[in-house]
Amino acid sequence: MTNHELHQDFERQLLSAFQHSKRFIETEDEMSVAPNATRAQLVERLAGPVPESGEDGLAVIDALAAQLDDGLVRSTNPRFFGWVIGGRTPTALAADWLASCWDQNGCLSSTSPAVAVVEEVCGKWLLDLLGLPKTAAFAFVTGCQMAHATCLAAARHRLLANANWDVETQGLSGAPAIRIVTGSNCHGSLVRAVRFVGLGSGSIVSIPADEGNQLCPADLEDGLAREPARPTIVVLQAGDINTGRFDPFPECIEVARKYDAWVHVDGAFGLWANVSDRHREKLNGVEKADSWTTDGHKWLNVPHDSGFAFVADESALRGAMAHRASYLTHDAAARDQIDYNPEWSKRFRALPAYAAIRQLGRKGIGEMIDRACDAAKQLVAALAEHPMVEVVCMPTLNQGMVRFRSDESATPEEGDAFTDRVMENVNKGGEAMFTGTLYRGRRCMRISVSNWRTGPSDVRRATVAIGEAIEALAREKAPG
Ligand SMILES: *Cc1c(COP(=O)(O)O)cnc(C)c1O
Repeated sequence: MTNHELHQDFERQLLSAFQHSKRFIETEDEMSVAPNATRAQLVERLAGPVPESGEDGLAVIDALAAQLDDGLVRSTNPRFFGWVIGGRTPTALAADWLASCWDQNGCLSSTSPAVAVVEEVCGKWLLDLLGLPKTAAFAFVTGCQMAHATCLAAARHRLLANANWDVETQGLSGAPAIRIVTGSNCHGSLVRAVRFVGLGSGSIVSIPADEGNQLCPADLEDGLAREPARPTIVVLQAGDINTGRFDPFPECIEVARKYDAWVHVDGAFGLWANVSDRHREKLNGVEKADSWTTDGHKWLNVPHDSGFAFVADESALRGAMAHRASYLTHDAAARDQIDYNPEWSKRFRALPAYAAIRQLGRKGIGEMIDRACDAAKQLVAALAEHPMVEVVCMPTLNQGMVRFRSDESATPEEGDAFTDRVMENVNKGGEAMFTGTLYRGRRCMRISVSNWRTGPSDVRRATVAIGEAIEALAREKAPG
């Protein structure tokens, strides 16, 4: 292959990917938000034996675009209200493309000085934006899930070192048993992280959350007092997945300190409230914790594969992660990412986040946060007007919940089933997409806004779509 042919090959395939991306973006507002393809259809199109001889690259790219399109969840659509999934801004997406093209190995400063410096600068920017201690250490990981595992590894290092136990060398067999004390509403990714670092989900002490789905400091103290001398990690929530509520940080952290506990904060989306003048006070005191996690791929609206771990005590994180090998080139002055990160090779993960922060600025991020919170509140308020809607949670941040009932006399169980059917109908209609949750034993539809574009017209369109779905079901049910 001549150089000219090589360049043409890249150009043809990348231009094709660009055209498919362009069409995806330009039809975002018209296409069904929820996917239409069935699993069977996707399997039929994609499965088969390993190809013995390859295909033309351009044909592969074109085929993928055609075969996967209706199997995609258009979570980038501003009327996607499911789970907590952000979109991606043009700048973050463009930076992500460059990161793929450059294909850097972000292991050490010597494997890519560019990655090392962008990561270092971006980490400091994040600490500033999120109101965390300037000197905290950080790691760029795949998501909040791995950020939890990273922080818990640092916590494990520090707590066991305090008990004269070198966990990195001796492992956990025979070590003092660490317990994790957290609210009953803690996210499942925290439970998995506890498993990953070998502490076992059985060591989690779950404190029932109060009416507002928050941890009550007195209940936390009761939980801690049961085994006052045990090494402990207290996990607090900055933005509960269902209600968007925050645990009372100053009081909870004060209680945790009495028991020398390590305090970890799950702020997957909630930590971003710090960039909003309206919502910052919810995070008062959060900076006194020991470790924090958040995501770039949720509220910062960068493409997926972007989570951040922060640890106040740099030596704890390095103690858990640092590694020296004879074949690696360590730079004395530079920051080697491997000393902070659970991964070895990794992509230029910090680039989209760095680009997004540079493009939006503190002001732009704050406006994005406020816009999402406004949209969540407007949507729940608009739905509240409907006689068949019961508001379960009026958003105080960007998360709300509603339930639907077919008529006044419907039982709670009928309400559960009706709620699921309304959601199913809305999603089938394609105009918007919602997902459900079990909250205090009852099915609810979650209203979650973390897309940078979601605004008043999306609220109107979603309200109409939900109203129509309710009416269609009511007609179905009415006799005759
Ligand atoms: C999404 C979420 C997580 C998990 O984050 P990933 O980025 O999906 O790993 C953890 N906690 C909360 C509160 C979340 O919303």
